[in-house]
Amino acid sequence: FVSFITAFLLAYEPAKRLARLNIDLNGLLIGARKLLEIIDSPASEPADDDKPPLVITQGRVELRDVSFSYREDEPVLKRMSLVAEPGQTTALVGPSGGGKSTVLALLLRLYEVDRGAVVIDNQIISDCSRTSLRQQTAYVGQDVYLFRASIRDNISFGRTGATEEEIVAAAKAAFAHDFIMSFPQGYDTPVGEHGTQLSGGQRQRIAIARALIRNAPIILLDEATAALDSESERYVQEALAGLCRGRTTLVIAHRLHTIMHADRILVVEGGQIVETGRHDELLQAGGRYASFYRLQQRDDNATPPLAATA
Ligand code: ADP
Ligand code: MG
Repeated sequence: FVSFITAFLLAYEPAKRLARLNIDLNGLLIGARKLLEIIDSPASEPADDDKPPLVITQGRVELRDVSFSYREDEPVLKRMSLVAEPGQTTALVGPSGGGKSTVLALLLRLYEVDRGAVVIDNQIISDCSRTSLRQQTAYVGQDVYLFRASIRDNISFGRTGATEEEIVAAAKAAFAHDFIMSFPQGYDTPVGEHGTQLSGGQRQRIAIARALIRNAPIILLDEATAALDSESERYVQEALAGLCRGRTTLVIAHRLHTIMHADRILVVEGGQIVETGRHDELLQAGGRYASFYRLQQRDDNATPPLAATA
């Protein structure tokens, strides 16, 4: 197992750069935590619990003049500044490779910025303990990691000591309760490797329940519904809407219809923010966002089924 993980990491990240990658995802991608205990090495995240905890009062998230590159001489973010206002949904859109996921990775301190700062409620996050940052942040990505345990444990992992009522309430809010109860073993159903096969949408709803139970004030979503069919996408969207309500949310979306109602949309391209506004403002402006949007609409309406045209 260890050699598999190591091989995977090396295949993914050349050893030279591993030193820069903070591997302990600590409750975000759960599998990685166990993994770190196994391959804990100086190359992984140095513990920094001696730093003061991040104290979130409002949940205002900022990038201040941030530059970052994974490799020397290949800048990925170029002096980027942005603000995600407390309790609002801020969407990042733009062409693939523009740097959207990197923004979230820096917010989680999976990497450290090269210049500038990530600031939450006026605290520079790299001056605070990583643990306190991640305890107050929930991340839902496209690939959900479920570990080999019951559905109950997979949900309550979001917060040790959660009661049965809290677990069920989170599952209900995540639109997961009904499908969980449809299994003969209900919340005791084993999942993960060799466990019950769950669909992508079901896995994500469990991840959302896990995020809900943690009650984190900051939510990061990375194309969380991109891989789903439209039926499960609808449920997951509703679950996500519940998760984001009243919390500072940064959401990366591929399908623009999922972020049309965002409080603010940032168009990220080439490591910079090239446009900012609400959906209708950006359409009016007739710039990059407007052309993305038209392109997607055209694709959505393209090639009606033969029967419809006959
Ligand atoms: P987006 O999410 O907008 O598609 P990313 O933030 O994933 O963009 O990627 C921005 C750039 O950084 C791309 O050129 C990508 O190839 C590069 N990149 C992303 N992750 C890594 C990584 N772990 N190591 C090296 N380069 C990376
Ligand atoms: Mg991405």
